[in-house]
Amino acid sequence: MSHPRQELTHFVHTEARALGFDLVGVTSADPLAAAAFNARWVAQGYAGDMAWLERNMDKRADPRQLVPGARSVICLGMHYDPPSSGEGTSSTPTGQIARYARGDDYHDLIKKRLAQLWEALRIQAGDEEISGRYYVDTAPVLERELAARAGLGWWGKNTLLINRRAGSYFFLAELITTLELELDEPATDHCGSCTRCLDACPTQAFPEPYVLDARRCISYLTIELKGSIPQDLRRPMGNWLLGCDICQDVCPWNRRSAATRESAFHARDGLDPVDLLELIGMDRDAFNQRFRGNPAKRPKRRGMLRNAAIALGNSGQRAEAVPVLVDVLKKEEEPLVRAHVAWALAELGGEQAKRGLQEARTVEKDEEVQQEIDTALAKLGD
Ligand code: SF4
Ligand code: SF4
Repeated sequence: MSHPRQELTHFVHTEARALGFDLVGVTSADPLAAAAFNARWVAQGYAGDMAWLERNMDKRADPRQLVPGARSVICLGMHYDPPSSGEGTSSTPTGQIARYARGDDYHDLIKKRLAQLWEALRIQAGDEEISGRYYVDTAPVLERELAARAGLGWWGKNTLLINRRAGSYFFLAELITTLELELDEPATDHCGSCTRCLDACPTQAFPEPYVLDARRCISYLTIELKGSIPQDLRRPMGNWLLGCDICQDVCPWNRRSAATRESAFHARDGLDPVDLLELIGMDRDAFNQRFRGNPAKRPKRRGMLRNAAIALGNSGQRAEAVPVLVDVLKKEEEPLVRAHVAWALAELGGEQAKRGLQEARTVEKDEEVQQEIDTALAKLGD
């Protein structure tokens, strides 16, 4: 007869898979050795403006501070890679959204599944005294480190968790509990001598293998950074609007990665790819309608239009983009967007761009935008 702990662990695996989780592993609730590495990473400034990463580092490294008496952490992964939308090529400039963000926001869906898993586990354990808490992509937990220790994958040179079978296109979630479960072995590193991700990163965001300088990463720049994008990083951003997949797309372990089983993560109409001229002209209502319940709500309209301006500046499609950008420079209320539109006009160049910038300069009141326009005009030889 098998031990109740084994039976319960088997139940966790079966139930989690039935609830749509593709990867399941269990680790102990012991404190993580990675806390010192993370503290150093934050101290080196690599976290940029993500101040919340600095808070509660002790708590975050120790699951027992979140759930007193915790013995096990169930780590879960759910594939998010959407099937191709088949929307093909377009003659107007387009922007890209990272694979994880083309459908519905994942937090709500995964939280509901975690709640179901926890409820089922409590009933199965038949113990009123057990306690537990679950998380998905929330600050209090060092989830990548826990998942690596639970055998879900190894911390790759691109700093993402990689699973030999599933690649890296999966969301992570975890359930910390006082229940005692069978533990899995940590995953081992299979990056070997490969450096594809490090070589492919357009902004050189890896100061060394396994270390990310978030301040240079397009994901951080397009989503977390609230203000201006540094000038030297705008061109390398290409046409990314929300996140970036390059260091995952080039990873050999993603050649065999599975598509998501969740239709909620499939690309919504118009998000794979995004029509940049439509996006840059969206008012608040149109934006909210298009992106309701989508991860683009995090950078909000001002962040997404800022990113769209950069993508248009990088599009090389002067004839299509310049008339629209000149109009946006005149009418847009958000100074952050106008500032990046000025940059885009200088990148695209031409007489119409120059005239638009000159006219805007005569009425512009915001100092930062004035500076951007001056820089843009200087670039155009004015
Ligand atoms: S997500 Fe893009 S910008 Fe960020 S590290 Fe990877 S390749 Fe570089
Ligand atoms: S691309 Fe190569 S080095 Fe980078 S994470 Fe994948 S296997 Fe590791």
